[in-house]
Amino acid sequence: MNFDKALTSKCKLPKKVPKRYALEMNPSTALENIFRLTRYQKAALKKLGIVTMIDLLYHFPSRYESVADEKLISLLQRGDVATFHGTIESVKKIRAFRKRMIMTEAKIRDHTGAIKALWFHQPYIADKLKIGVELRFSGKIGERNGKLYVANPEFEHSYHSRKKNTALDGGTTMMYPVYPESRGITSKWFYHAIKKLLREKVHEDIKDSIPKNILGKYNLPQLKTALVWIHNPQKESHRISARKRFAFEEVFFIQLSRQKIRHEYKNNASYTIESNGEQIKTFSDRFPFTLTNSQETAIKTILSDFEKDEPMSRLLEGDVGSGKTAVAAITAYAVVTSQPKGQNFGNLQIAYMAPTEILAQQHFQSFMEYFSHMPIQIGLITGSGCKKFPSKVNPKSATDISRAQLLKWVKNGEIPILIGTHALIQKTVSFKHLAFIIIDEQHRFGTMQRAKLSKKNDGVYAAPHLLSMTATPIPRTLALTVFGDLDLTLLDEMPVGRKPIITEIISPDKRGAAYEEIATRLKEGRQLYVICPRIDEPDPKKLLALNTKSVKAEARRLKQEVFPEYEIEILHSKLRPAEKENIMKKFSDGNIDILVATSVVEVGVNVPNATMIVIEGAERFGLAQLHQLRGRVLRSNHQAYCYVFADTKSKKSIERLKAIQKAKSGFELAELDLEMRGSGELSGRKQWGISDIGMEAIKNIKMVEAARTEAQNIISKDPTFKKYPLIAKQIETGEKIHFE
Ligand code: ADP
Ligand code: MG
Repeated sequence: MNFDKALTSKCKLPKKVPKRYALEMNPSTALENIFRLTRYQKAALKKLGIVTMIDLLYHFPSRYESVADEKLISLLQRGDVATFHGTIESVKKIRAFRKRMIMTEAKIRDHTGAIKALWFHQPYIADKLKIGVELRFSGKIGERNGKLYVANPEFEHSYHSRKKNTALDGGTTMMYPVYPESRGITSKWFYHAIKKLLREKVHEDIKDSIPKNILGKYNLPQLKTALVWIHNPQKESHRISARKRFAFEEVFFIQLSRQKIRHEYKNNASYTIESNGEQIKTFSDRFPFTLTNSQETAIKTILSDFEKDEPMSRLLEGDVGSGKTAVAAITAYAVVTSQPKGQNFGNLQIAYMAPTEILAQQHFQSFMEYFSHMPIQIGLITGSGCKKFPSKVNPKSATDISRAQLLKWVKNGEIPILIGTHALIQKTVSFKHLAFIIIDEQHRFGTMQRAKLSKKNDGVYAAPHLLSMTATPIPRTLALTVFGDLDLTLLDEMPVGRKPIITEIISPDKRGAAYEEIATRLKEGRQLYVICPRIDEPDPKKLLALNTKSVKAEARRLKQEVFPEYEIEILHSKLRPAEKENIMKKFSDGNIDILVATSVVEVGVNVPNATMIVIEGAERFGLAQLHQLRGRVLRSNHQAYCYVFADTKSKKSIERLKAIQKAKSGFELAELDLEMRGSGELSGRKQWGISDIGMEAIKNIKMVEAARTEAQNIISKDPTFKKYPLIAKQIETGEKIHFE
């Protein structure tokens, strides 16, 4: 079986292998003991998570330069979009075109000739170019007054050119690896260090943790071959085949560890809950709306999970506004109306955890309404205090109670529903019969936290059913991987009658008009979010940082120039949690008109009066992320507006942004994003703990399914990896293994 045709070549090592050096080392030896490293290099390696030689060999090129595509300067022609090497001969800042434009001009030379490079409006580039340095340039070749020049070329340091082109084993290659760098360490360093390890055949001492039969089945090269092929590909097919192997490897191991967790969780005893269809219907009929088909299906699926004697682990994924809370409430109803086994009194309990205090309060509010007709007590526990519903004095409202009192009632089972923030998982909280855990915005909670909640049972041990809910639209392949320990249910239908949000893509010259529109609605009392890509002002010396708006500067500018009469505040991740909560509360209470924030504004916060959102530097965000940001204003009966401010004139970027005007759901956009953006741009490592090469697998549904199937096979037959000691060790330690 093949993921695709490119994967058919047989594994073969390059013929000429250099003589083996006698080395007092093995692949797990720390690099510090092998290489002489500067303080900066040490720090950089640490930042990249590279400690041992294995780690270094697993630091894969992010791309490959093909020397074949490079041109000699003397052969450049007008109209080419070309890449070439050259040394900086001179640099200056000049004023041109009626003295209004400042630009950088440099002369670049190779052994065949010289060409002028011009960077318009970018005088700061002059400071980055040093005379005598060899760089690799790419840009469009233009002509003025009969002379060629290259306009606004991109450039980077380069460590090889046509002349010096030799491969690791002495042969010639047309592809050079380019490695992810960090401040203090260059791609060039990686190139030479890895070359050395390969020459010493360190890679041959690393054990291949993927079972042979699996490699064979999918035609994947074995480890020692793949390591050579990925760092020093002689052919395109080798490069592709090696990258597939490592992509598969990463996803396979994620699957193994997730499937293991899943297997262990399922092995626990749980609460069998038989629900009464009539009663459930009566309960849901009290809702002021009819459930959507996807809500109905989700509820049915969950209720049938409850009937099994193994604990449910389910992820409910639905766009903002798709009605996840109703699903939570109805299934919670089935649980709290059930009695503990062998008992004809009392209730099973549920814990409902939200990522923020505001959200916890909102859920508490909703549950008070849904359960107001029943003799069910509901508790709220957050960092700033505890509440109980109903109050003795007023059965329609909640009352403040002490934490100690609340915990006592939860422990003895009198309060069957407890809603809260992280405070819910503190040691002091214990339940009598915790049968159901609902977690809102699950990706913020790790496995550890989940495990903590699972044990919260005073009395008989039984693992609670788990429902995780998220509005983060992620592609199916990614969900299957990172949430491999969960079953997946989608709410892919929006309630009817919801006014669709009006999304406008605003080009720089239309800003004024957009602000006027916004001002009219602010005057009517609506509120506005302004999302900026960064917190602080950019460092003017940093090339790429320019032109992106910062929260702080934009808030100042809006106050001074655009909306002086309105209350403006900022919100970003560097504020203390208490400050954040406070600002969100003020915004929620309508005391702030305009909230300027980074994209971290709390997910799912419901401020119905905030009906407008401006997204600055939109081209920097993923489509799915834009969609999610836009979801913040989807919460009311007022018409909602999303203004996508793009600072780009690039047709491709604008086309991409237009997709969000058309797409029907977050899932559709997430898939589109995965297709249109390079895997590196999906920042999988940061958000999901997946490396760039792992993201390549995520783009390939067949590969993800294969990795999942193989992992499931192993787990179902041999859940403790008795026959797979290498896998066992790697899963346990998270490290790759070598021969002892
Ligand atoms: P989310 O999935 O983002 O958590 P919520 O559960 O907060 O969404 O629901 C958003 C709004 O939609 C709430 O005001 C809720 O009452 C309403 N709602 C939920 N389900 C339906 C439905 N089937 N029809 C109409 N409105 C609904
Ligand atoms: Mg929600």
